[in-house]
Parts: sequence; C-alpha cells; structure tokens
Amino acid sequence: MQRTYKFRLYPSIEQTKKLQNNLKVCKWVYNKMIDYSKNKSVSRNDLNYFLTELKEQEPWLYSYHSKMLQMISTQIDGAQKALERLRKNGYKTGSLKFAKYEECGSFTYNQSGFKIEEGFLHLSKIGKTRIILHRSIPENVQIKQIMVSKSKSGKWHACVTCDVDTALPKIRFLNSVGLDVGIKNLAYDSDGFATPNPLNLKKLLKPLTRAQRNISRRSIGSQNRKKAVKFYQIVHERIKNRRKDFLHKLSTHYAKKYDVIFVERLAKSNMVKNHKLARNILDSGWGIFTNMLDYKCVLVEVPARNTTVDCSRCGNKVSKSLAVRTHRCDACGLVLDRDHNAAINILKRGLGIFNIKLPQELREVTPVKIPKGSMKQENTTGR
Ligand SMILES: [Zn+2]
Repeated sequence: MQRTYKFRLYPSIEQTKKLQNNLKVCKWVYNKMIDYSKNKSVSRNDLNYFLTELKEQEPWLYSYHSKMLQMISTQIDGAQKALERLRKNGYKTGSLKFAKYEECGSFTYNQSGFKIEEGFLHLSKIGKTRIILHRSIPENVQIKQIMVSKSKSGKWHACVTCDVDTALPKIRFLNSVGLDVGIKNLAYDSDGFATPNPLNLKKLLKPLTRAQRNISRRSIGSQNRKKAVKFYQIVHERIKNRRKDFLHKLSTHYAKKYDVIFVERLAKSNMVKNHKLARNILDSGWGIFTNMLDYKCVLVEVPARNTTVDCSRCGNKVSKSLAVRTHRCDACGLVLDRDHNAAINILKRGLGIFNIKLPQELREVTPVKIPKGSMKQENTTGR
C-alpha cells in the first residue's frame, strides 16, 4: 500500500526562483508533448523517445533532472488512458489541453534525485530546501516519489509517497453503518449520530466577495491588482483547507469506528443543476468525503431509490417534501428524523446486498394500524 504525506516547504528567494523555473520547464515540455501527440495515439515509450530528440535540439534541457522530465510522459500517458476508459464507458471526451503558464503547478521526482535529511529536502539540480516535517515518516520505509507543488496563493508543498506494509484487516460486516449525506446534516448515520454541515464557504463568503470586489476595483495590469488577486487566492485556499480538514476528521472518525460504510449512490451532477442547492452541495464536498472514506475503509454504494420515502421499520411508503424533516409512519407509528430513517434504510440495503442476516432491531415488523391520536408518542425502541 502507498501512503502520501504532505509537508510545507520554505524555500529561500533563490530556491524559489529555481523551483519556479522547474515548473515552467515542465509545462513547456508538457505542451511540446501534447503538441506531438495531437491527432495520433502515442505510447509512453513514444513520448520518451520524443523527449530524447527534444533534448538533442534543446541541450539546455540537460540541466534539469531527467527523471522529472520523464515523469511528464508518464503523466500524459496516464491521462490519456483515463480518457480512453471514459470513452469506453460511453462518455464524451475531448483531448488533452495545453497547460497554461500560470504561477502554480507541480513537478515530480520519481525514485531518485531526492533525500530528506535534518529538516531539509535535497533535490537533485535544485539543492536543499527547508521542509517542516510536522509528522514523522515511519522509519525504514522507502520513499517512492516526491511531488513538489505550488498553490495559487504561493505556498510550496512536498507530497512524499512511501510504500507502507500493512496487513489488510479482517472485515466484520456486522460492524457496519449506513450514512445519509445531506445539506442540513453533512452526515447522519444509522446509529443516530448527526454531523451538521459546517458550510465553510458561507462563513467566509463575505471576505471572499470583498476580495473579489477589490480585484475589480483595481486597474488591469497594476501591482495593486496583483496583490488583490493574491489575497483572493489566500481566502479561497483557506476555505478549501478548512473544508478538507473537517472532512478528514469526520471520515477518519467513521473509518476507525466501523469496518464497512454504506452510502447512497448519488446522481450528483443532476443535483448540482438545481441552482438553489448547488452551492451548498459543492460546499459540503460530498464527493471529497466519499473519496476519503473509500480509501480509509470499505465503502459500498447502494441504490438510492426511495431511501427517504420508505419506513425503515415496516417498509410503508411515506412521501415527504424536502422541507419535512421528520419521518412519521402511519402504519407502525415510527417517528424519526428523516435523515436517520434514510440512514437505516441504506444500512439495511447494504447488508441485503451481502446477504447478511439483519440484526434483530433492523428486522421489519408487520405494521398494525395505529389509531389516530397516539401518533405523538415518540417511539424509542424503533431504530
Ligand atoms: Zn412504519
């Protein structure tokens, strides 16, 4: 298994120039390769051969780490294969675009040309840069590659990928949970634990719009505009980091507590089209969240049909609009938060996929008509 650690780099002014130069060269080579592979299918070997020829023509390329330049062909090859897979699955795809010469980007050192020692990252042809190891890399692991990246706000990071030996843990399906992801509650699990949506964007929306406004007030091309853009990027990145931090903590909580997690298979692209919901959905970052769960534990998607409508205790259909937050079943008298009800349905469906006998408390009961008036009694035994 591979694990990647991300560390902050603090390059000096001179090193920053060198790193920046590396980004530029990588983009230049990338664009040359994209140009070369236009309208024909080329393999990684073809691209590497092209790179050797390119180096003959442009000898200055020899002063850059050769593995780094080769990684660009690996990157293009990977991207093209991913596009092909999409095409096979019936998606419409375009071709790879030229890289823009923006200030941000990344380059990768694979297998050789790097060393981490005493708070410094040594990179071949660049030198040593101060690195903050805020957490320790386990000893005796082999570092496979290091990706150096620059974010839009100008921060440098190194992503260190290592091979880690971990025995696959035994999966106990009964230690599983159903998760309903939503807007009001980012996650509501079948054990009744709700996590309200932090809506990070909303909190920082004011500073963000102010920063945006500042940009439009400055005249194009001026130093002040550049400064304003940078500040905007910083606010933007802060939102991104807060969201990511929150989602990491939540997904780790679930991955540690449960072996298997069931979620709905969401048609997210459809929901984003609904503009009222769109920003909230994107802001809550469901996709990032499920991705994190996917690599931290066993994540299984179940069909989403009717999870909010079905009664989790008797199977009776109780239709409700988005605004109705409580599930009230006329047939069995179950009163539950609507998301909790959905989470239990998801768990039941998930266990059903694997033919696992449902625990006693999840088994369906035969509904008995409950006379009106006794509905208000909160049902505590129903889960
Ligand atoms: Zn019911």
